[in-house]
Amino acid sequence: MSANIIDGKAFAATVREKVASKVADLKNAHNITPGLAVVLVGEDPASQVYVRSKGKQTLEVGMNSIEHKLDPDTTEEALLALIDELNSDPAVHGILVQLPLPSHLDETLVINRILPEKDVDGFHISNVGLLATSQKSMVPCTPLGCLLMLRDYHGSLSGKNVVVVGRSNIVGKPMAQLLLNESCTVTIAHSRTVDLPDVVRNADIVVAAVGRPEMVPGDWIKPGATVIDVGINRISLDNGKTKLVGDAEYESCAAVAGAITPVPGGVGPMTIACLLANTVTACCRINNLPNEESFLQ
Ligand code: NDP
Repeated sequence: MSANIIDGKAFAATVREKVASKVADLKNAHNITPGLAVVLVGEDPASQVYVRSKGKQTLEVGMNSIEHKLDPDTTEEALLALIDELNSDPAVHGILVQLPLPSHLDETLVINRILPEKDVDGFHISNVGLLATSQKSMVPCTPLGCLLMLRDYHGSLSGKNVVVVGRSNIVGKPMAQLLLNESCTVTIAHSRTVDLPDVVRNADIVVAAVGRPEMVPGDWIKPGATVIDVGINRISLDNGKTKLVGDAEYESCAAVAGAITPVPGGVGPMTIACLLANTVTACCRINNLPNEESFLQ
């Protein structure tokens, strides 16, 4: 069997088109331009790349991009003051603080300072609680991207047996909550799970979010299952070059699975597309505009 490739890059382009069209509607009908503020503290190279890419795509869909690049030794007080300023700025509808923060800053404190309705990453404790109780919330971008791809590929997910490998607050846990809300039967596996291969072999859908290069091999996959590979790992090759790989071993999984997301070109592009979508959703909610979430359907 050779798996269908779930093309996240192409799907992300369709999400961005819908976002751009909604942004144009907001401008024309309401004279509102959604604005996304991204705060970067320090000079982490990977974070700088992400922030650049987010800013570029924000502008491409017609939204305003506001970037704040702060010194690595920025104090917590100064960072919280900036967030307060962005919270009360009517031109800012979404606020994202790029993680990880330098170790002298308390991430939980900083994230929870963002107004929940502007928390487009969905990490604020209020949004976490709302999602856990199946209420309207801002949903974290990476799991939202995975869900949109799964819905697009499968239609209804009701009754599917899903194993999410990884229990982080930003991927594994919200992914499991979203799939539970779709009436899947969800197992969350982690580093203490006993006999992980057998647990994964039961799954109709496997979401791999472990941060370990190519950890999930094809012989863990039930024939015909769907593999969503969240992992982004850069590995060194013998020739001195580097390569991006996922948390699943692509070749062996693709030989058994019914469908698989590639790395790169799968979950990654969907994450930023969903950030843009969340910013539009936040803008609509803040302005009390009706049908605010229907633009993604
Ligand atoms: P974390 O390191 O926060 O969490 C990893 C999880 O995997 C933990 O729950 C850990 O278990 C579990 N785990 C680690 N080793 C094993 C193992 N041997 N067996 C079973 N479970 C294991 O990672 P994140 O959730 O932040 O990210 C996961 C991956 O997704 C990374 O590759 C990251 O780069 C990628 N990522 C990709 C994004 C995208 O846009 N595509 C966005 C965010 C992340 P325990 O809790 O027991 O320690």
